[in-house]
Formats: sequence, C-alpha cells, structure tokens
Amino acid sequence: MERSRTHTCGELRKEHAGEAAVLMGWVHRVRDQGGIVFIDLRDRYGTTQVVVEPGGPVSLDVAREFKREYVAEVRGTVRLRPEEMANRNLQTGEVELVAEELVLLNRCVTPPFVVEDDTDASEEIRLQYRFLDLRRPKMQKLIELRHHAAGVVRRYLSDKGFLEIETPLLVRNSPEGARDFLVPSRLSKGKFYSLPQSPQIYKQILMVSGCDRYFQIAKCLRDEDLRADRQPEFSQIDIELSFTTEGEVFDIMDGLLAAIWKEAGGGDISTPIPVISHAEAMAKYGSDKPDIRFGMEIQDISELAARSEFRAFRAVIEGGGTVRAIAAPGGASLSRREIDGLEETAKRAGAKGLAWCRVSEGKLDGGVGRFFDHEALTAAAGASTGDLVVMVAADEKTALSSLGQVRLALGGRLAPPSAGDFRFLWVNRFPLFEWDDEGERWEPAHHMFTLPYDDEIEFLETDPGRVHARLYDMTLNGVEIASGSIRCHDPELQRRIMSVVGIRGEEADRRFGFLLNALSYGAPPHGGIAFGWDRLITLLAGGDSIRDVIPFPKTTSGLSPMDGSPSDVEEELLADLGLRLLPRKED
Ligand code: ASP
Repeated sequence: MERSRTHTCGELRKEHAGEAAVLMGWVHRVRDQGGIVFIDLRDRYGTTQVVVEPGGPVSLDVAREFKREYVAEVRGTVRLRPEEMANRNLQTGEVELVAEELVLLNRCVTPPFVVEDDTDASEEIRLQYRFLDLRRPKMQKLIELRHHAAGVVRRYLSDKGFLEIETPLLVRNSPEGARDFLVPSRLSKGKFYSLPQSPQIYKQILMVSGCDRYFQIAKCLRDEDLRADRQPEFSQIDIELSFTTEGEVFDIMDGLLAAIWKEAGGGDISTPIPVISHAEAMAKYGSDKPDIRFGMEIQDISELAARSEFRAFRAVIEGGGTVRAIAAPGGASLSRREIDGLEETAKRAGAKGLAWCRVSEGKLDGGVGRFFDHEALTAAAGASTGDLVVMVAADEKTALSSLGQVRLALGGRLAPPSAGDFRFLWVNRFPLFEWDDEGERWEPAHHMFTLPYDDEIEFLETDPGRVHARLYDMTLNGVEIASGSIRCHDPELQRRIMSVVGIRGEEADRRFGFLLNALSYGAPPHGGIAFGWDRLITLLAGGDSIRDVIPFPKTTSGLSPMDGSPSDVEEELLADLGLRLLPRKED
C-alpha cells in the first residue's frame, strides 16, 4: 500500500488533539526513560514528540532500535500534553503523537556530528557532509529565506515589465576583470569556451535586441584567488534596462530592496536610499563603501596643522600632503593599548603613524595634545569633551584610506552596530579607470562597458585618471552589495575606452568584436546593475559567511569536500579533448 504523511513534523497543534496522524521524518533524538520511549521526529518544518508507551501497539524494544537520523514513519493519535509537560520552545510543544505504528524507512550510519543548530563541527566536515549540515534547522531557514527573497525579486521585477531571460554558460573568452574558467571543446579541438564572469555582454546584447527590460538570477564564475567572502561561482540578480538614467535605476532598485526587506523579514527600509559621490565617500569616510551606521566623519585639519607647533605635521603639509582627523565620541576612555592597536591599523593601511589626543574639559590630554590649542583643535576636528581625536598626516590617498580603516575600528569599539540596523547607500561618480601599479597601466575601475560623463570624454586619451564614469554601487553597512553603470552604447567610444586599457584595434575586434558589432546595429542607450545575491542574503539573514547561504559552496581554497572536486580525470577524456597534461611541479 502506498502511504503518505498526513502532516509535517511542524504542523500539529492542540486543535489536532484526538485526530489520527501519520508523520515521516528524521529521528532527532531518542529518550529512553525506562518504561517509556520518546522520539523527536524532525523535518524541514519542525519537530514533533512521538511517544511509545509500554503495553501499546509498538514495542519499546522496536522503538529503542531507532537511532539519530534514522528515517521513520509514525502512525498514531495526537494527544494534548499535560500543561506542565508542554514545551514552549517547540511550535508543536503542546501536543505529542502517541505511536500506534512505527516503520523504519531507512537507517543512517553514525553521523559525524549532531544535526542541531549549535554545532562544533568544523566547516570542512560540515561541507563534506553537507547533506547532514543542511538538515540543521538554521540552514533550512536560510534555504527558505533565499527562495522567498528570490520570489520577491521575480514578482517585483516582473510587475515592472522586466523579463527573466537566460544567457549562456558556455561563452567566448572575454574576461571582464578576473580570469575566466576555461572549458575545452571536444568538437572543435584546441578551442575553448569560457564560463561567464557575469552575463554583462549578453544582457547588453539583449538591449540591442529590443528586450528593453531584462533580469536573471545568474551564476557567475570567476577564477580568482579566493578570499573569505568570495566563491569561484556565485549568484547575481542581474538587471538591465534600455533608455534609462541613473535616477530611474536608483528608483527601481530602491523599491526592489524595500520589497525584499519587507517581505523577506528584514523590516522597513527608508527610501529613497541616499546617494553620495565617490569623492565625497572617500573624503568623509575614507572608503568607497562607507559604513554609515555611525558618524565619525573624517575632517580636514590641514590648515590648523600647518600653523601648529607639531613639526612632523608641518613638514608633511609643506611637502604637499594633508592632515586629516576623526573625533571619536567617548574615545577618551580608550586605553593606551587600544590606541596603539588603532595605530597598528593605520600603519597597515600605509600611514607612518597615528597622532592622537584626548579631549577633556578645556584641555587636551596625552599624545600630541600639547602641540595644539584646545579650542582650535576641537573646532577643526568637530570634537567634544570625552572624545579621542586621531590624526594622520600623509598624501591624501593614504591619509583617507588609513583613517577609513581606523574609523571602522573605532566604530566597532565605540558604536557597536545593533542587529537589524540596515543602512543602505548609493555611491556614484567613480573614476572610470584605476592605475595598476604592478601592471603599470590603466584598468577599468569597474568594467570597461561604462559610459564616461560627457564633459570628461575629451580627457580619455590625455588624462584618463581625470575621467569619471556613470558608475554606481549600492552599499549596505559598509559592504558593497551591487554595482552597475550606464553603458557605453557607441561602438567608437567603446573602442576608445578599450584602447586606454590596452585593448586596441585588432585585439578589440578579436576579443570583443561581437559586442562592438552588435553596438553598431542601433544599440539603444542602456544601463543596469547586478546585486551580489549571496552577500545580500547573508546580510538579510544577519549572518557572516556567504558559504552559509550557498547550498553547496566551495572551501576558501576552491575545493568541494563533498564531491571531491576538482578531481583528476581519465587520460582518455583528455585525449578526446586533444589535451595532455604537463607534469606538475611536485610530480
Ligand atoms: N556585470 C557587472 C558585474 O558583474 C554588473 C553590472 O555592471 O551590471 O559586476
């Protein structure tokens, strides 16, 4: 007889008392209390207590055979638990299922860790036994959250006229910044596909095709050195619109974020999300992804420093440098050791040192306090009694970025963020190019399909560093969550941009000819954006690792302990592809 469950393990309530029910799930725990056996049966929806009583239709010995993670079917009657036995921590805690039949659906070998939220299993083991790890209620919730949020995205964008369109995974090698993963072609031996770093070029071509509004929850693959929050494959909510402007993109995306947050449990966010320029973000926060959950903005105190008695500051100013400061409210209470720690942070970010002083009533204490007038410094740095003032003298870039790091450390210490405080921010007007010291050349700051501001196009060849782009990032609590731009839809301008980054004439045609060709067939003005989906879900869930919201992630060294990839392959497979391996260094 085919059997199915009547309820899930999270469903039974006191209204069901007296009813018959069939549950199926995993044995979470068996408690043998001598004369009576309790089995907690778990599935994705919750846990229900099953009782096997002496003298009943199910023998206690049979019940005792059930071990952790065995799969069981229980037929029985729902019974109200006596008031004092109710388990308030469990949604089903007011009832239990009195077993009339207990069927073993499958056994489980001894699991390497207990399937429960608090686990001390290492991440390596969790990833190796991901099927067990994902059974943990916490992980099930994350999978549900991700699904739910994706549903909001699909609904919201569809309502706004966006079409969900798939783009290929086997594409031409046309790196966007990182290294492509290559896939050898068997049918065209010696040739390769690439796995896409993003659907960038394809979504632009869809605009040329007249699709007007596109989105996709897309897999992106980048063969780069991994960091804690990076994965070789990750997901983006990828979006592109025709005939658009920054204003329209911001407006639609603000609405998208507000819908995700509201409907997927993050609460209300206030819109419009504020916008600041890259230059302002750097000047105030020393970062292009400022955490605005706390103030402590950077101040320019160069003028005061130039007049001060502190020689080191004066020397830097005379050499064309700058002195910037942060007044940290309550920071006067920090110990000398903590201040030394801040100095270490500044030094790691390139500063030669961190000058400081404490502000007390009418005077400055410690550090470089004796070189400054109380009133003048507090006015210039915006400091009050009880603050710690920290200062860096250096070239502008170093002063800002090192104080940016110190600011984050101060924020963590003096204004620890509260859970559920979500501060979104748009950052725009980025420079189009960045100078790469190592390669000694200009690189696109984001990617090279971005449109420069009209009034700066003339400097493309003569002074590329001066050109700003119609580029924007969305940040949340100091993390970049999306990046996009208004694109270059003019093939000639696109060629000029490519040539600044060293992709000229023939090479541009060889690598990007298909895009340049498409652009020359009546490309509409267009722009778009992509959200880092894994990161967004991590932040929405209040977590700290993107690996927790990806069902099957790789380790930080790019390995998959569960399936053992990447793996060796048979010689024959390589021969079919026309490939032979070079001896490895260690062989
Ligand atoms: N394709 C870009 C990226 O992956 C996003 C965009 O510009 O739409 O960063």
